[in-house]
Amino acid sequence: MFPITPSWDDATTLFHEFGHALHGLSSNVAYPTLNGGVRDYTELQSHLLERWLMTDEVIDNYLVHHKTGEPMPAALVQKIKDASTFMQGFGTTEYLASALVDMRYHMIDPEGLDPDAFEKATLADLGMPKEIVMRHRSPHFSHIFSGEGYSAGYYSYMWADVLTADAAEAFKEAPGGFYDKGLARLLVNNLFSVRNAVDPADAYRAFRGRDAEIGALMRDRGFPEPAKK
Ligand SMILES: [Zn+2]
Repeated sequence: MFPITPSWDDATTLFHEFGHALHGLSSNVAYPTLNGGVRDYTELQSHLLERWLMTDEVIDNYLVHHKTGEPMPAALVQKIKDASTFMQGFGTTEYLASALVDMRYHMIDPEGLDPDAFEKATLADLGMPKEIVMRHRSPHFSHIFSGEGYSAGYYSYMWADVLTADAAEAFKEAPGGFYDKGLARLLVNNLFSVRNAVDPADAYRAFRGRDAEIGALMRDRGFPEPAKK
């Protein structure tokens, strides 16, 4: 056996992949083809499952010292929570630059295109801060044209985060929090078991009672909230 030192990232990955597993295991569709997912929706279930890692129930029961069995000290837990907004401004900006440039590429006639000039002009148009570069520059950004699945679809990671943050707030607001049975049932019935047999927008509305709102993501990342329209 190799000694292993599981990190917080490993724990997050475990919950993430378990979310995909639960999504598959809860499937209750009539035809196997309906198990297929919509690109900007299939990461919601896995991202959302990650949120249970931060609940007191999991922290106090499972994140214990390997010798003493003591739960993780509250001060350390607080540090992990506080660190969740670290570098979010940078990360969100470099990501959005790539996602928006990806979309702009698919909105123009590519005939005679100079990618370098196009990228520069697009970033200037978007008001990209000089201090930050795109997460993926055009020459190595395989999402743009490597296949139909992700073409103009790099945005989908953030859309999954919007849905996730909004759904997580539903649990935060529920009487039983993340362990609220009624809300958990709505989650399984509307967002897990139906897979792709129901339009994701309708499925989300059935779970949340409304469309997802961007405010939850802004709060999640430690940003000022957008003004209400
Ligand atoms: Zn995933």
